Amino acid sequence: MLQHLFTANQVIPGPAGQQIRDGAVLFQDGTILAVGPREAVEDLASPTAERRNFAGGTILPGLINCHVHLVFDACGAPARAAAEATHAELADRADRLLRSGVTTVRDLGDRGGLAIQFRDQHFRGPRIVPSGPPITVPDGHCWFLGGAADGEPELRARVRQNAELGAEVIKVMASGGQITPNSPSLWESQFTAAELAAIVDEAKKAGLPVAAHAHGTDAISAAADAGVATIEHCTWLREGGGGYDLRDDVAAKIAERGIFACVAWPSDWRGFMNRLGSARAEQVVSRFEWMTEHGIRMIPGTDAGAGNSGFDDYAGALQLYEHLGFDRGHIIEMATTTSAEALGVGDTTGQLTPGLSADLLVTAGDPLADLTNLGRLELVTFKGRPAALQAR
Ligand SMILES: [Zn+2]
Repeated sequence: MLQHLFTANQVIPGPAGQQIRDGAVLFQDGTILAVGPREAVEDLASPTAERRNFAGGTILPGLINCHVHLVFDACGAPARAAAEATHAELADRADRLLRSGVTTVRDLGDRGGLAIQFRDQHFRGPRIVPSGPPITVPDGHCWFLGGAADGEPELRARVRQNAELGAEVIKVMASGGQITPNSPSLWESQFTAAELAAIVDEAKKAGLPVAAHAHGTDAISAAADAGVATIEHCTWLREGGGGYDLRDDVAAKIAERGIFACVAWPSDWRGFMNRLGSARAEQVVSRFEWMTEHGIRMIPGTDAGAGNSGFDDYAGALQLYEHLGFDRGHIIEMATTTSAEALGVGDTTGQLTPGLSADLLVTAGDPLADLTNLGRLELVTFKGRPAALQAR
């Protein structure tokens, strides 16, 4: 099969601090064969390799969006969108993610396994790590997606059902949320600690990690105790809803157990902060700093589809972390290598290293000099195939 040799001004393999000046990536059959300085990699390439040089460009791993909903339409009517979602709509949203540089997504909630079926029928990318219907309580957050269960035996049965549907992660709504009328408040726990532990235990039997949606500190703490892999939103709301409850012991526990936090803010996070007002926005920033100081590892995601969060402009969403003071190399690592590890796909994607999938971005400029360059894409490949050539 034909080899492909991409050369560029710079290659960023993924982990922070590893950039290669005048670098190259060699791949074949969708798999990376070699990454390194141009001359060294050129020596390994077959004489017939297809060669492309991106002068002034940077090659880096495809980005990972750790929190999306392909069945939602970003128009604020999630129940209707999920009920009426078509394959063509999911394909359009997947294409938009791919064109914004996202080659892997974790879909954290569909209806009836729609995103799972879509994964099995849609091959041009991005890679989809789906949860199926999120587990919730009767009339609880997102009950309309079909994942409600009452009591431990039903919860365990739900986990097994999602596993049988082909889920690669179990999503549980540990606290209330915003998009379901007449359901528990954001800060309110939907499950007991014992119920969360049963969900994690049943998921473990199926070989699956658990992602817990949790806004309230009590729900966050219970999810951490239960041994979830990631905490979504992780808002630290006080019981009763009066402000934040930043508990050092809970943060330390999350960090110690290697649980990742995905705050899932949209690409238009600036608009979100404006609506919060400067005082609360500052509180939010200090909350993120406090999490980082405790050693909690954050992974980026956008909750695309929910609220008004769109499927384009992932680069814009990543700028939030620059605003929070993360350096650009670290942000790229978070959106590639760290996210792949958190999602359990680190042996497939998330780094430019031999043996992994040729999920590549080529940016026109240097994202380490200016993060907005992550949105100036010359090429995206998924399993070695250029996304642009696969446009519908
Ligand atoms: Zn969500």
